[in-house]
Amino acid sequence: MKTCVAMLLALFGGVCFAQASPDRGPHAAYPESEAQAAWRGLAASYVRKASRTHTLDTDPVLNTRVDTVMAAVGTAVAAIDRRFADSSWRAILIEDFGHGAAAFPGEIILVDAKFVRTLKLNDDELALIFSHEAAHVVAGHASAKLSFMAEFLGKGKVPTARTALLEYLAKDSYAAVFQPTLQRQEREADTVGAAILFASGYDPQRAMGLFDKLADMETRDDGRGEDPHDAARIRKQAVAGVIADLRRIQARRSPEPR
Ligand SMILES: [Zn+2]
Repeated sequence: MKTCVAMLLALFGGVCFAQASPDRGPHAAYPESEAQAAWRGLAASYVRKASRTHTLDTDPVLNTRVDTVMAAVGTAVAAIDRRFADSSWRAILIEDFGHGAAAFPGEIILVDAKFVRTLKLNDDELALIFSHEAAHVVAGHASAKLSFMAEFLGKGKVPTARTALLEYLAKDSYAAVFQPTLQRQEREADTVGAAILFASGYDPQRAMGLFDKLADMETRDDGRGEDPHDAARIRKQAVAGVIADLRRIQARRSPEPR
């Protein structure tokens, strides 16, 4: 929540909130550049595999929509956090990626094309997803996962960021151990993502329709297993709360009707 407050300040006061992220700094188990390189390598391997198996989505209309929305969200991130001022974000559509979307350092977001089509996502909903994913990158969650591994197993077992990542991916049981932290990361991504969405200029109201679609899916699926996300209706309330706060701050700062 500390990050969120800093994000609000950043959004309206031009303050860089880089220092506010709880997952950075002296407690990181690996140098930031090493952790980022490990995750970037994983993203590249997913893209190589998709290219090899011809599962990169080539629909020009959908790719253009995704590029446009990603560019707007990237601009919003750059406006909020100067560390990303020169970043160029990329969203890559992969058929049956298996996750709705996943973010990687290097400003890459991999998106499940089937998920986008099945839920008939509009641009505002895409913006909400990309904002949430970008928030994971902004908050340094990928590096934090590797630090958990180092803490849990000891650095002797996972001496490098890459070995920590490979081990993390090898067993589902780690995600279960880290569930409380993953849940905290997801909440933070929703909160920070809401501020990014707000700054992106997309319609938050339409975007939050995504949570209704996800809630429908939850009703159909039986239970949500180890999913670290809160239920969709709770997530919707959290995002709506941040948007309402930001609207209030904005109204105070620009008293003229808009
Ligand atoms: Zn997430």
